[in-house]
Amino acid sequence: MKKTIIGYSRLGREIPLFQTGEGDAVVLLVGGIHAREHITCDLVQALSTETGCDVIPCLNPDGRAIVRGEEKPRIPFSGDLRQWKANALGVDLNVNFDAEWGKGVSNVWKAGAENYVGPCPESEPETKAVCALIRQKRYPVVVSYHTLGEEVYWGFGDNYRYRQEALLYADKIGYPLKKSVGSAGGLKDWYCKNFSGLGLTVEVGRTEWGHPCPPERLEEILKKHRGSLVLLERIGRKIARENDGRGNQTGADRL
Ligand SMILES: [Zn+2]
Repeated sequence: MKKTIIGYSRLGREIPLFQTGEGDAVVLLVGGIHAREHITCDLVQALSTETGCDVIPCLNPDGRAIVRGEEKPRIPFSGDLRQWKANALGVDLNVNFDAEWGKGVSNVWKAGAENYVGPCPESEPETKAVCALIRQKRYPVVVSYHTLGEEVYWGFGDNYRYRQEALLYADKIGYPLKKSVGSAGGLKDWYCKNFSGLGLTVEVGRTEWGHPCPPERLEEILKKHRGSLVLLERIGRKIARENDGRGNQTGADRL
């Protein structure tokens, strides 16, 4: 397995990318974009061993450290840090991407535990790091893992291609497939806006488990997701063939 540092967080923590294949991966998995959802870091790492893929286990390492009580936010905050979602400056990374930025129904304009879009799109180093990687690699499939709710969201704006493939995947893990209404500025949104492949947001774990999802639930979640990477890889190869026949490029529409 190859490890590359693709960037550094606000507080200077490494953001590693692991490549379990030969470097021609058609699937990128991203975990831990929301701090309190850090069980997804362990989930994507476990799933990545199923087949060759690229994986960023934790896009928000400062946030994860805050939730674990190992770090303090760099903004005044008096609430429950175990419920923190943002990065260390109080920017919610999953509304910081350049895709109808600032138009999401839950967006806020003040730094805090969640939903703050940041001063401008892609203002945060964590957001920049994953965007740069995707611009370079143009993965046919990008999956962003969150908790909770057991549902799959796909597509954004004009890109609702590959519904059939998204449905196959959702059926495989036993979650319903949904269009995300009112979402904007997320990783999946940005990917779908700028690339022609399949972008997914996957909400793992049952709502009643609460945030942060208890670590002892990981096995149960994994059971549902076993075999899903092999399917995503097959979908990725198919999309790559349809796009330009060269394996790992989706033929970006606008970048
Ligand atoms: Zn989330």
